[in-house]
Amino acid sequence: MTAPWRATVLTLFPEMFPGPLGVSLAGKALACGLWALEARDIRASATDKHRSVDDTPAGGGPGMVLRADVLAAAIDAADDSSLPRLLMSPRGRPLTQSRVRELAGGPGALLICGRFEGVDQRVIEARQLEEVSIGDYVLSGGEIAALALIDACVRLLPGVMGKAESGAEESFSESLLEYPQYTRPQTFEGRPIPEILLSGDHAKVAAWRRAEAERLTRDRRPDLWAKRLDQRKNTTDG
Ligand code: SAM
Repeated sequence: MTAPWRATVLTLFPEMFPGPLGVSLAGKALACGLWALEARDIRASATDKHRSVDDTPAGGGPGMVLRADVLAAAIDAADDSSLPRLLMSPRGRPLTQSRVRELAGGPGALLICGRFEGVDQRVIEARQLEEVSIGDYVLSGGEIAALALIDACVRLLPGVMGKAESGAEESFSESLLEYPQYTRPQTFEGRPIPEILLSGDHAKVAAWRRAEAERLTRDRRPDLWAKRLDQRKNTTDG
């Protein structure tokens, strides 16, 4: 049997895990052993008598910086060299669904959660950390970013989602946002479900959904729409 996908998290707040990943889809999958989670305390790698993990920034300025030696020791102690090493960082490359798919298809990930003003640059270089951002805003720590990344990966693991195809048509597949969804009641506060969805004509339903997905993507995410047009052009040119 192959080992389950695993997330090893280095954090100053291991008690934040599994947190929301302990319930619903991810929680059930965790309990069934479809994936594994280990949250390790960075402070356990501190060596001085105060167990300090941070210090003032070289060159001055506000706040504190996570020390390179302590974080490097924590990474080495985790001893998970087969896993991609991801540092949660607002400066990182924005996380995308395609990177999530790649990570979910691998053995797992080592996720490092920054705090304070961030981490000493030298550990990023020395341990070849891939900086990953979950968006253009600043969180107070990397834990919520790590939870988001793990959640996005875990739901793609075999056996986690109810139907294999429920991942195939959602937002960002083919660089499109998802079409609008409806369910009962047939009329809600005077708003009916679009008639075509009740027609039973699968081809027409599929065409309507595709048109809606395209309309939403064009209106809301011109960047994604441009990417889609590029992808299409490359397929027809190639
Ligand atoms: N001084 C840093 C800056 O301006 O880029 C912000 C540090 S932030 C207060 C502390 C930690 O939260 C970061 O080291 C990182 O681990 C995490 N973090 C904050 N925003 C994030 C984001 N958008 N994506 C991923 N991690 C984030």
